Amino acid sequence: MSDQTAFNLADYYDTDTFNRITTFAAGKETPFLVVDTATIDRHYEKMVEAFPYASIYYAVKANPAPQILTMLRDKGANFDIASIYELEKVLALDVSPNRLSYGNTIKKARDIRAFFDKGVRLFATDSEADLRNIARAAPGSRIYVRILTEGTQTADWPLSRKFGCQTDMAMDLLILARDLGLEPYGVSFHVGSQQRDIGAWDAALGKVKVIFERLRDEDGIELKMINMGGGFPANYLTRTNDLATYAAEISRFIREDFGEDFPEIILEPGRSLIANAGVLVSEVVLISRKSRTALHRWIYTDVGKFSGLVETMDESIKFPIYTDKSGEVEDVVIAGPSCDSADIMYENYKYGLPLNLAIGDRLYWLSTGAYTTSYSSIEFNGFPPLKDYYI
Ligand SMILES: *Cc1c(COP(=O)(O)O)cnc(C)c1O
Repeated sequence: MSDQTAFNLADYYDTDTFNRITTFAAGKETPFLVVDTATIDRHYEKMVEAFPYASIYYAVKANPAPQILTMLRDKGANFDIASIYELEKVLALDVSPNRLSYGNTIKKARDIRAFFDKGVRLFATDSEADLRNIARAAPGSRIYVRILTEGTQTADWPLSRKFGCQTDMAMDLLILARDLGLEPYGVSFHVGSQQRDIGAWDAALGKVKVIFERLRDEDGIELKMINMGGGFPANYLTRTNDLATYAAEISRFIREDFGEDFPEIILEPGRSLIANAGVLVSEVVLISRKSRTALHRWIYTDVGKFSGLVETMDESIKFPIYTDKSGEVEDVVIAGPSCDSADIMYENYKYGLPLNLAIGDRLYWLSTGAYTTSYSSIEFNGFPPLKDYYI
C-alpha cells in the first residue's frame, strides 16, 4: 500500500480478492477489466438480505457479460431489459420471460411486439404514445408508469428529466392503461445512479403514495407494485453510506407511507452489485509537463473516456486509482490515449500520484466493474473495445 492514495485499499477490496485480481492480471497486455464474480455473489446476497421483501431485477446495461447474467440467473434474479439485444442475450441463457421487465420507456412498436411474442408481460412507460403502442403490441400486459424524481444534485450519475412523467400524468396514464385493456400494475422511479442522499427515496415514495391513494379512492384502481429502480451505492472516492443503512432508511419510508401491508417491491440494482467487483488494469503511456515551470504533470494512460471510462464525463464518477509505486506525491492531470481532447478523465479534481511513477507502470482503476465494458467504443482511433475477464 503506497502512501500516495487518498483512500484505503481495504475499503474497496479485501486482500485476498485484490491479490486474486492482480495475480490474474500479471503479464497480460493492458488495458483490460478483471471482474471477480465472487464479489458480485456477495453483493447480491447483501442486497437480498437488506431487502428481504423485494424482487431484484438486475439492470443488464450495467454489465451484460454472460458470466454475470448466468450467475445471477442461477441465484434467482430477474432482469431489467432495455432493448431487444439485451432480451436476446438473456433469453439465450434460458431465463424465463416471466423474470423479465421491459424497463425502457423509449421503444419502437415492433420491439414491444418482439418482447410480447417472447413472453414478456411487464412493461414500463411514461407517455401516452408509448402506452398506446403497448396496448396494441402487447395486449393485456402489466404496466408500470415511471415518475420524475428530484435529487439530481446528490446523484453522481443522474437519470432524471429524460425519463418519467409528472404525478398527474402518471395517474392519467394508469387510468388509460385500464381503459385500453392493460393491467395498471404499479409505479416506478429511479432517483439517479450512485444516489448519495437516501432522502431521495423518501420524496419519491411520497409521490407514489399519492398516486396509489388517488387511483384507489377516485378511480377504483388497486395498484400492486412499486419499482424503486437503482441508485444504490458502489464504493468510489466520494463516500456513501453502506447498503444496510440505505435499506434500513428506505424500508422505514415504505412502512411510513404504506404500512406493514405494503405493495410488492421491485429493485433494479446495476452499479451496486457489479462496480466493486471490477478492476480496470491500465498502463502509463506517457508522462509530460506542458511547460518548464508547469506544476502539474500530465499522465496519459492506455485507457480513456472512449475505452471504458465514460463515467468520468464531467468528472462525475471518481474512481479510486491504485499504483504499486509509493513516495512523494504530486497532483496530476489524467488523460486517455485517443486523439480527442475530450479524452481527459480528471483535470479539475486533482489526483495525487507518486513522483516516481514512470511510463510503463500499471495503474489499477478500482470499482470499475459496472458501466465500463458496455460503454466502451468499438474502434475510435482504432483502439479495440475494452477486454474483460471474469474470474
Ligand atoms: C440504469 C438503470 C438502473 C440501474 O441503476 P443503478 O444506479 O446502476 O443501480 C435501474 N433501472 C433503470 C430503469 C435503469 O435505467
